[in-house]
Amino acid sequence: ATLPYDDANIFARILRGEIPCTRVYEDDHALAFNDINPQAPHHVLVIPTGRYVSWDDFSANASDAEISGFVRAVGAVARAAGLVEPGYRLLANVGGDAHQEVPHLHVHIFGGRPLGPMLA
Ligand code: 5GP
Repeated sequence: ATLPYDDANIFARILRGEIPCTRVYEDDHALAFNDINPQAPHHVLVIPTGRYVSWDDFSANASDAEISGFVRAVGAVARAAGLVEPGYRLLANVGGDAHQEVPHLHVHIFGGRPLGPMLA
């Protein structure tokens, strides 16, 4: 079951500017910032500006403009970081089995080193 959106979650607070972050991209539909605990030389989180708990919530309930704006932003962030030629990985954890820690949709971008095979 999808949780109700919690306006006190840490990424909501980052969006409101209440908590600092290193912003790398921002537009009407998306904000991208460096992960505080990077797992690769490039580890960026891209979040929609709208109030969506997860990929499940977003894919079911966001408007076409929100979805296209967000998807294009994820691509643009990776492209601007020079990750297309070497390659990169996208990851979105959804819910408890995936260890989603923050209940605001975020897509991880990993790159800058060989990433190895996907973890189970
Ligand atoms: P999840 O496990 O939910 O997919 O990933 C949450 C991610 O958010 C983790 O990689 C964690 O390091 C990152 N994170 C948690 N709190 C903060 C924060 O306050 N600032 C930033 N920049 N990243 C955070």
